[in-house]
Amino acid sequence: MRALCWNGPHKVRVENVPDPKILNPRDAIVKITTTAICGSDLHLYDGYIPTMEKGDILGHEFMGEIVEVGNGVENLKKGDRVVVPFPIACGRCFFCSQQLWSLCDNSNPNAALAEAMYGYSAAGIFGYSHLFGGYAGGQAEYARVPFADVGPIKIPDQLKDEQVLFLSDIFATGYMAAENCNIQPGDTIAVWGCGPVGQLTIRSAYLLGAARVIAIDRVPERLRMASEQGHAEVIDYEGTDVIEALKQMTGGRGPDACIDAVGLEAHGDTLDAAIDMTKQKTHLSTDRPHVLREAIQACRKGGTVSILGVYGGFLDKIPFGAAFNKGLTFKMGQTHVQKYLQPLLERIEHGEIDPSFIITHTLRLDEAPHGYEIFKHKEDGCIKVVLKP
Ligand code: NAD
Ligand code: ZN
Repeated sequence: MRALCWNGPHKVRVENVPDPKILNPRDAIVKITTTAICGSDLHLYDGYIPTMEKGDILGHEFMGEIVEVGNGVENLKKGDRVVVPFPIACGRCFFCSQQLWSLCDNSNPNAALAEAMYGYSAAGIFGYSHLFGGYAGGQAEYARVPFADVGPIKIPDQLKDEQVLFLSDIFATGYMAAENCNIQPGDTIAVWGCGPVGQLTIRSAYLLGAARVIAIDRVPERLRMASEQGHAEVIDYEGTDVIEALKQMTGGRGPDACIDAVGLEAHGDTLDAAIDMTKQKTHLSTDRPHVLREAIQACRKGGTVSILGVYGGFLDKIPFGAAFNKGLTFKMGQTHVQKYLQPLLERIEHGEIDPSFIITHTLRLDEAPHGYEIFKHKEDGCIKVVLKP
């Protein structure tokens, strides 16, 4: 089959690779109809995540048709149309039983290595380095889906791929980040980052009852989408004191919750610095990370800082005294996607949201390297790229 393979920082190409096979009774093979490039893939593209190997297949946002199931999978059959959640989870361990799917104890064969190297481990993730299990990803014609009896959700025929694809990750991610803010009627929520995830975070905050959403970015098309389609008030952070602006917009008190939908990469760290960071050296002592610091400083006393942007290693100069004395609540992590599949599918079916509004580019799998370039550099008005294998 054809698949998009990582070959080093900023080197990805579509290659011929062996077709995936059923390895375990709970596996299924999915023929991929639509897949997407995520901001998290850019961390791999930039070389931020260690333990990538040449030839690793990228991609963790995908859906398609079941073409084969192992004999342990009873709830799916050939021909079913499914969306696959990005964290791989067994459904049976302590963490899965608590709905903490992205922390599954049984889906990452390299968990012990990750613990030893970095002091943490998490669930396996499709196409996301050997630290997260070394699974082949979904920017390909086919993928093997482990624990297929608990992960994938069946999709009704009348919904288009584009409407449901983002259940696999970014709609669930935006929604969980907003849910983590414990939004009360009248609340004002600030969202840093108007990328694809930020856009769906804005919409989720309104779905969960926010009165106002204030969105921060600098890319004109992204600010425009946040304003026109997301109904957010917007701040262009270039040339603006974001903390001061947020204060003024909230009567001096600050937003009730602040969501970091940016994470590590967008702070402009050089590749070398990023690689050092994964080795947990702490010399990144400059003025980064802006977003997390701003979120802590801007948030009202007693408010919540919700972090969905991905971080790794250590961060310097976090104003923890402010966080402590303001009595802030922190919530963060990889999304427990499985928990949100059914409720968010229902919201899509009921017409409360159509997440396809973020798609600006639909490309063939062969064009994926170009897709990575325009998504990374935010060229050509690019907000979200989907690929058709
Ligand atoms: P993206 O790179 O397209 O968007 C990031 C946006 O942040 C860009 O529009 C950029 O201009 C903006 N930005 C950069 N610096 C900023 C600043 N100082 N203030 C305000 N905005 C700033 O990426 P995306 O696909 O939207 O993903 C966003 C983040 O979410 C990434 O870190 C990604 O890894 C993460 N993510 C996390 C999960 C999870 O499970 N927690 C899932 C999916 C994605
Ligand atoms: Zn993703």
